[in-house]
Amino acid sequence: MQQSHDLSQVEVRRSRRRVRTVSAWRDGERTVVAIPAGFTRSQEREWVDRMLTRLAAQERRRRPSDEQLARRAKELSERYLDGRARPTSVAWSGNQGRRWGSCTPSDGSIRLSDRLQGMPRWVVDYVLVHELAHLLHPGHDEAFWSTVERYPRTQRARGYLEGYVYARSQAGERGLPADDDVDREEVDEVVDGD
Ligand SMILES: [Zn+2]
Repeated sequence: MQQSHDLSQVEVRRSRRRVRTVSAWRDGERTVVAIPAGFTRSQEREWVDRMLTRLAAQERRRRPSDEQLARRAKELSERYLDGRARPTSVAWSGNQGRRWGSCTPSDGSIRLSDRLQGMPRWVVDYVLVHELAHLLHPGHDEAFWSTVERYPRTQRARGYLEGYVYARSQAGERGLPADDDVDREEVDEVVDGD
């Protein structure tokens, strides 16, 4: 869902430590824009607009097509699964319910939830590796997890997805997790001296 420029969901934070940088990132349903404390109102408006545009552009770039997804699945299978997992099709799906992805081992097809679109690539990669591993191990047994964990960011990606679900469940409430999460995706822009 595209939420940029929905200003009701934007929180502007003024920071005395910032002099020349503006940052923006998604925090659950909200978007936070951190600006130098000394900005005027019109600088604030200008920079909020600019950063929301940049953030949306960055997220659009992170939406690979079905073909790119299939190519990525092949690369990941070769790198982490000795090329043994060979899906017959890999595609985005808007019909995954609460799942991030699914795999039908009998016909070799893999689907990824389109809710992953716009998430960091290493998170999408984790879901791909997870579904690829199901072509080798249908259940979630020990052999399955030891295969998945050849992908080094497995634990981190699982934490990211849990945090995403948590943040959404809290949406609308105050007191969402603070902005010091090291995994947050943000864009930074250096303020030029105009
Ligand atoms: Zn699974």
